[in-house]
Amino acid sequence: MGSIEGKVALVTGAGSGIGEAVARRLDAEGALVAALDVDSTGAELTAGLLTRGMAVIADVADSAQVDEAVRTVVDTYGRLDILVNNAGIRGGQEADEAFGRLAARLEEEASGTPTTVLEATVNISDEAWHRMLGVHLDGTFYGTRAALRHMRSGAVIVNVSSICGLTGCAHIPHYSAAKAGIEGFTRAVARDVAPQGIRVNCIAPGYIDTPLGDVMAPVVRRDLERQISLGRFGLPTEIASAVAFLVGPDGTYVTGQTLSPNGGFVIS
Ligand code: NAP
Repeated sequence: MGSIEGKVALVTGAGSGIGEAVARRLDAEGALVAALDVDSTGAELTAGLLTRGMAVIADVADSAQVDEAVRTVVDTYGRLDILVNNAGIRGGQEADEAFGRLAARLEEEASGTPTTVLEATVNISDEAWHRMLGVHLDGTFYGTRAALRHMRSGAVIVNVSSICGLTGCAHIPHYSAAKAGIEGFTRAVARDVAPQGIRVNCIAPGYIDTPLGDVMAPVVRRDLERQISLGRFGLPTEIASAVAFLVGPDGTYVTGQTLSPNGGFVIS
């Protein structure tokens, strides 16, 4: 018998990477898992890997779609005990270009004086800014609000932030702002709903091997690996372990916290 046997969990962004690993771990711990993703193929593939579970298709940046998705889960399973707000994007062309300039700068540093500047902030359009905040910060709010309408004492929410929210990542200021916002939101909501017996925490992963990082040039990856105390990127399953701790019986005295499995990239 798993540690969260019979609980109902909704995991956003479950069609890939960390979300898929979280869905599979919560399933292995005995939960009924709804795998939500904007990508129907990804959601259905993950749901197909679960012992019991369902796929839910929604864009977390759209509050009506999120409300509908949460209602579908509650109508199907009769309750909602766990929400993991994990869906995320890396940004569009502006983020890819900033990554490219970061790679160029690192090459220059290795061979002498660097001249390329990142120019990340000045190249973010209104649209890219709002989409980044829309998926991450609005999405976390919409999911949390919809879930809280149905959650009862003992329920748990885990929001997925990033080390970029803790320290700021120069090449993706909009992503860093969204993730820092999620951490502040987590602390406020944890205080809000504690009297109802509901816990809310945040996980701020370091660099994890998922499709989100596919755009990373080898020189950028090597530079990051040098800065990670454990010398390697993490695995999605290592983030799923942290989620399992927070939502399970070992995490019952933890609320309003940010837990950062980052291999010692950030130590404070
Ligand atoms: P991933 O492999 O790209 O998975 C993210 C999933 O979220 C994808 O299936 C994606 O679908 C889905 N998604 C994107 N926008 C959505 C939306 N509007 N509504 C619903 N689903 C949406 O990325 P990951 O690395 O697992 O990232 C998961 C979370 O961890 C994100 O919040 C990310 O910021 C955070 N994180 C990741 C790292 C890392 O190094 N990987 C580090 C720190 C934090 P599409 O593929 O169709 O876009």
